[in-house]
Amino acid sequence: MAAYRLMQAGARVLMIERGGWVERGPNAWRDDSSLAFTPSYARDIRYSVIADGRAVEDIGSYACVGGPSVFYGGTSFRYRVEDFIGDADVIAASGAAWPCRYPDMEPYYTEAEALLSIAGDDSCDPTAPPRSAPFPQSPAPLAPITKRIVAAAQALKLSPFSLPLAIHYGADAARAACVTCSTCDTYACAIEAKNDIATMMIRPLLARGLVLWTDTVAVRLEESGQRVRKLYVHRKDTGVMQSVEADLFVLAAGALGTPHLILSSKLQEHSPARDSVGRYLMRHNNAMVFGGFASKPNPERRFHKQIAIHDYYFGDRDARDVMGMRKLGGIQQVMPPSAHLVMTQLSWKQEMVVRSLVEHATGLLCIAEDQPQSENRVSVDWSSRDSYGLPRLVIHHRYSARDQQALTALVRRAKRVLRKAGAWVFYTHQVSTFSHAVGTVRAGVDPATSPLDEDCRFRGLHNLWITCGSALPLSAAVNPSLTIAANALRVSDRIVATMGKA
Ligand SMILES: Cc1cc2nc3c(=O)[nH]c(=O)nc-3n(C[C@H](O)[C@H](O)[C@H](O)COP(=O)(O)OP(=O)(O)OC[C@H]3O[C@@H](n4cnc5c(N)ncnc54)[C@H](O)[C@@H]3O)c2cc1C
Ligand code: SF4
Repeated sequence: MAAYRLMQAGARVLMIERGGWVERGPNAWRDDSSLAFTPSYARDIRYSVIADGRAVEDIGSYACVGGPSVFYGGTSFRYRVEDFIGDADVIAASGAAWPCRYPDMEPYYTEAEALLSIAGDDSCDPTAPPRSAPFPQSPAPLAPITKRIVAAAQALKLSPFSLPLAIHYGADAARAACVTCSTCDTYACAIEAKNDIATMMIRPLLARGLVLWTDTVAVRLEESGQRVRKLYVHRKDTGVMQSVEADLFVLAAGALGTPHLILSSKLQEHSPARDSVGRYLMRHNNAMVFGGFASKPNPERRFHKQIAIHDYYFGDRDARDVMGMRKLGGIQQVMPPSAHLVMTQLSWKQEMVVRSLVEHATGLLCIAEDQPQSENRVSVDWSSRDSYGLPRLVIHHRYSARDQQALTALVRRAKRVLRKAGAWVFYTHQVSTFSHAVGTVRAGVDPATSPLDEDCRFRGLHNLWITCGSALPLSAAVNPSLTIAANALRVSDRIVATMGKA
């Protein structure tokens, strides 16, 4: 998004990307084309995760042109009006505060929805924020199992509505339209009907003069006189280390990659919020609840991640289990994983249960907003370096009691919907990935705890801007990518305003 806006303003842009292009075509439909089995889940830059105080595992990192959007589910929500104000219980002592409000972001949401051609209809969404333009596309017709979930939710007096999706349903005859296949979330689209960043933004920008270096790892930013002067990169094809000079640097390496680069370059030394760089990591508290049905709920194996339920987004008044909580989160449809994925991802005990459920199951994803806690953070371990010389990124994370309470409440309510739709047995899978990570180099008004100013410029360095999920001060309880995109457009307007002056 930043490259798009800066090129519109006449800038020459070089994009550095550590991964390569993702292969499309029929192979993308194979079970083993799910993200974790592909080169786009890079194992040459590994992160260590310490969850609940225990070293748990090493994880890979996302690396491809377009980033994880190529493999994402395409759910493209705007934050709610209240998400920009924040809930006092969620914020607690963190000092998290958005530097702007929903009306400031609205035009950028509209623009991001247009650029990504989002399909949706929020007329039944009880939490929908006001919009200045309709969705660019209407949603696809509902699959039979979706209609069943809708009927069940309505019988419980809930208000299911269409999930906003970055999927091409055929308004543009020059592209293949979605064929509602069963491999979408965690897979690249074989026919490029998913409106990911590689398809919708990077390819068209290349035709307009964007210079892209793929398979090139950004390793270090060099500062002098309160400006970043050089970026050192490692080109994987030649093995050569190279430096790049520029007037402006925009970091958009994701909520793990961006603080990794800042800490590896010791740029926090120049920040009045030096101790906050890497902190306040959020990732949502997500769980998928799968309901088992006596007969196969989706015998056509048709795409059915189509609706959401937001009746509990702002709590569940008078319900005893969440008394006093004014924010819980959202519930969305989710498809069961393929048997192949089940076999590789789970322990044998879980596998036995889930494998038998897969064909007889459909699910609901619960997304609870998580608290921005200072202890949830990334740091670097200089004693361990990867083959590019980057110190190892260490992720420390623990959910708070509030995070857990909100998720437990949502899971309970999701089960009620599935039960009403006919499910008689349940399996709940806690999501442990960092796919929704945000917040590690947050924007805010307080210079002491927010490394980025109101315009997402790095405090202490005049020409360094951050436009990825790192900048978000609160996670809200909707999928982050559209807000990241809209905020990047907002920030880019500020960058353009400084061009030639800085
Ligand atoms: C399987 C999956 C499903 C998802 N589904 C959804 C969804 O339905 N809706 C939604 O809103 N969100 C979804 N997400 C999350 C969404 O993809 C992310 O929130 C979003 O892509 C984050 O954007 P970003 O700009 O912060 O960074 P990213 O998209 O992570 O982009 C960072 C880029 O920087 C590159 N990079 C990082 N470090 C370096 C380096 N040192 N040198 C060079 N390049 C580097 C990476 O390769 C990547 O291309 C999903 C994520 C996953 C993994
Ligand atoms: S559901 Fe549609 S957009 Fe998603 S992978 Fe299949 S064809 Fe592509």
